Amino acid sequence: MVDTLYIETSVEKNALTTKVKQHFRKADNVSIDKYGEVFNIRAQNFRQQKKNPALILAEKHGQRIIPTPSEYETGGDQNFYFSHMLNCIYDCRYCFLQGMYRSANYLLFVNYEDFAEDLREHVANSEATNPWYFSGYDCDSLALEPITGFAEYFLEIFAEEKMTKATLELRTKSTQIRSLLGRPTMQNVVVAFSLNPDDVIASVELGTPNLMKRLNAIEQLQKAGWRVGLRFDPVVWHQDFEKTYTKFFDDVFNIVDVEKVDSITLGSVRLPKDFHKIMSKLYPEHWLFKAGMELNQENMVTYTESVSQQLLGFCESEVIKHANSEKLFIYN
Ligand code: SF4
Repeated sequence: MVDTLYIETSVEKNALTTKVKQHFRKADNVSIDKYGEVFNIRAQNFRQQKKNPALILAEKHGQRIIPTPSEYETGGDQNFYFSHMLNCIYDCRYCFLQGMYRSANYLLFVNYEDFAEDLREHVANSEATNPWYFSGYDCDSLALEPITGFAEYFLEIFAEEKMTKATLELRTKSTQIRSLLGRPTMQNVVVAFSLNPDDVIASVELGTPNLMKRLNAIEQLQKAGWRVGLRFDPVVWHQDFEKTYTKFFDDVFNIVDVEKVDSITLGSVRLPKDFHKIMSKLYPEHWLFKAGMELNQENMVTYTESVSQQLLGFCESEVIKHANSEKLFIYN
């Protein structure tokens, strides 16, 4: 899966570096001073690189905990995110990472101890009753769990007594839930699954587990006592979306125990203008970028108001047939 490992010299002796190197024994190892030498080069072709990405192991310096954009907020009275990884093994056509980074290489920050120290300090200094920390903003939280051990490590941190006022939200489309099922449940962790109908998954969420696999993962987690969130975000406009999404919501709520669901979000495709421009050049023929979209006042490209009202209005009415509207957060 990975032919080349680029390794910053400063993390060569890091325990996670050793584990990753053991996992990719056959990969070429290349020493670098700073990850920017590989990741930030201007003349890179995202599509070409996505076919065979390298993995870069590096140290995250500077600000590691960042306030979230408002559309990420669901429960906490203050909301932040942290990214142990940039880029993703999945290939969603609507993913803003393709517009944000020139490189499709995976960049893993292996200095987890520094993230953990920052999180402890952040929680200790927070005046919020329930500060909320998301992972899965710049990658999928669980997709590479067998290699990165990300959840395994950070669940331990959030299990510490002084961290229990904080909540960790793991955003994912993955079914890599073994590290959660293998330990006692935690009430300050929410596993938030991004869900879509199989037709949408096959067309725009390439490489991701199908709907039934994600629902099975949710079912197992709920049965074990974990808090689960549902993220219908983005819902994607397409011909006959009413038919597809009606069946989809029926399927989801047939399996998920809605009484135990932590929160539900509903949002449509929205991209910063510059990212949208780059992405539509990557896939000039893709129907996703041709559906009625326009630039809004916040410089975001979104569905036109009428498309958005049809799509989100319809999905909202379907969701509240199954779930209490108080659990529902809508992002336009
Ligand atoms: S799973 Fe999330 S991070 Fe990964 S490609 Fe899809 S949208 Fe992007």
